[in-house]
Amino acid sequence: MALDLVFLGPPGAGKGTQARKLAEAFGLAQLSTGDALRAAAEAGTKAGKAAMKAGSLVSDEIVNAIVAETIDTEEYVNGAIFDGYPRTLAQAAELDLILKSRGRHLSLVLSLEVDDMMVVQRISGRFTCGNCGEGYHNNFKQTKTEGQCDQCGGTDFKRRADDNADAVATRLAEYHRETAPLIEYYREQNKTQSVNAMQAIDKIASDLSTLVKNAGIQPV
Ligand code: AMP
Repeated sequence: MALDLVFLGPPGAGKGTQARKLAEAFGLAQLSTGDALRAAAEAGTKAGKAAMKAGSLVSDEIVNAIVAETIDTEEYVNGAIFDGYPRTLAQAAELDLILKSRGRHLSLVLSLEVDDMMVVQRISGRFTCGNCGEGYHNNFKQTKTEGQCDQCGGTDFKRRADDNADAVATRLAEYHRETAPLIEYYREQNKTQSVNAMQAIDKIASDLSTLVKNAGIQPV
């Protein structure tokens, strides 16, 4: 049976980093709508690209369509860790339908809790390896050898265009207005489990892993 999980949390909470680790440990596949939109940016609509750059949400129609299409690819037959989706109540309702029509359902929703000040600190200073996507931070997680990715040895690093002060303020406001209500939406379905995401990366990972195991899901 497929296993589907959602990661909720503000920008900079570490959803991508943690979803990546959890996917590896439990043999699941990560589905990040932000990554999908960035990858599709060239093909994407003008409106979608402008919204992303400014830190606003892309329309529900666009992201729902991406998820409905992606989930049917081979990679996700055993389940998905949704990272950055759903972000609105309408998307959550659509995800329920997408899964239901495929005989699947959400098993667990992991909410990463971080305060706004920490979000700003984390986002300003983060960068990723342009080759393998490993995440780093100027202060919190530097590469072991300067200028070289610990994972793949790559030397080309990227910073996101929307990791600037104006876009971060918009992304935080969107999070509080549109996405935070989902914590309660899923709590009413007994699916939400929260983690203190202000701790060290490895401690957050082990807390998440415990919650997943407690839900009856075992590592590979
Ligand atoms: P992320 O990489 O998850 O931080 O997403 C980067 C940007 O992509 C967001 O600020 C939005 O503009 C857009 N985006 C990603 N996922 C969604 C979503 N589920 N709904 C609407 N917009 C999204």
